[in-house]
Amino acid sequence: MWEIIALCITITGLAADNITNVKASYENYKVFRIHPRTYMQLEVLQDLKNSNEFSYWQEPTEINKEVDIMIPPHKFTHFYEIVSNYKMFHRLQIRNVQELINNTISQSQSQNFDFNSYHALEKIYDNLDELAKKYPDQVQVIVGGTTYEGRKIKGVKVSISNETRPGIFIEGGIHAREWISPATVMYILHQLLFSNDTDVRYVADNHNWFIFPIFNPDGYVYSFTKDRLWTKNRKSSSSFCIGSNLNRNWDFQWNTTGVSNDPCSEDYPGSKAFSEIETESMSQYMRSSHFYAYISFHSYGQQLLYSCSYLNIPHYVILYQINFIAIETLQKKYNTQYETGCISKFQQLSGLSTNYVANVVRTPIVYLYKLYDKSEYGFLLPPKQIIPTGKKTLDFFIAMCNETLSHYYDLITHITHS
Ligand SMILES: [Zn+2]
Repeated sequence: MWEIIALCITITGLAADNITNVKASYENYKVFRIHPRTYMQLEVLQDLKNSNEFSYWQEPTEINKEVDIMIPPHKFTHFYEIVSNYKMFHRLQIRNVQELINNTISQSQSQNFDFNSYHALEKIYDNLDELAKKYPDQVQVIVGGTTYEGRKIKGVKVSISNETRPGIFIEGGIHAREWISPATVMYILHQLLFSNDTDVRYVADNHNWFIFPIFNPDGYVYSFTKDRLWTKNRKSSSSFCIGSNLNRNWDFQWNTTGVSNDPCSEDYPGSKAFSEIETESMSQYMRSSHFYAYISFHSYGQQLLYSCSYLNIPHYVILYQINFIAIETLQKKYNTQYETGCISKFQQLSGLSTNYVANVVRTPIVYLYKLYDKSEYGFLLPPKQIIPTGKKTLDFFIAMCNETLSHYYDLITHITHS
């Protein structure tokens, strides 16, 4: 009998080990794009989203605006019934999600930090340490906050001129699965340090930089090791579910729009504003730092959105000029169409870091940039797109920072928002 019990314990132990090593599979999951053309269709899509039946990659916000939904194979029939019942125009965007996931995972074992593959958290952090070690007069490693699983939220402060200059804060990777965001932030960091281009040098040398490639380290690690499409952090949100959406948890208009109070939902905003240590600790760091511009990188959708909830007229005029230059740079050079407008109009979401920074930290220039692409790959942009995305983003970014700097005096001295 004891032998049987011992055998059972061994088998159970093995089973548990196997379970913890299992990776989420998205084999034959498909992504469909739907164009809601009537309010009825929009309402159906919104109800469906609230039911958490499918995973939405692009939210239903208004009619004639594309919605992307990922459907698992066992729900194809149900999905086709819905689109046929409500006569929704739909198109297959991604045939097999797992195939794209496999393509985002690096085959290279190179020890060097490069932009040919997506890197694990440790490799990104090692690179920040290495840069600080090599250029101690210009790069300083900073720990802005901590995570639920006890990791550091690590970034760098870069001051090339060694003097106090206007500060710009760059946020990446608050949503775990958006791997192109940390990759682009690291690309910008390297260009600010090493580019010989005169425009890049002017902008790089004349600012102090606060650069955090990954605001959600626990989620990022989990997206590498267990579930490529994980987006939230890793603290339990109920007895059965894990994670709050860190870009719904900031203490400004928390839990008002675009959220779900179902703890299993990807849009769960946490049990209260700043219930999550990641947002709470980073907000403290931000409030003690000095910067006049902030940009948060997300994917996907090719949108350049600015915060305009508190604008007075002189401020709006400056913001309009900055935005015009930024969009023109993107469209002229690459002929790529970007949507632009107020964050609140496009996103209709609450508890965002950008809205907190604009309204509570009172930073005059705040952008949320949804990176490439628009349709083909969604969150699963192949690694060969990292450098082209970095180049495009850098061009826009330098043009934007240059224009922002030219208004620095007005922004700081004449623009007040009470
Ligand atoms: Zn995002």
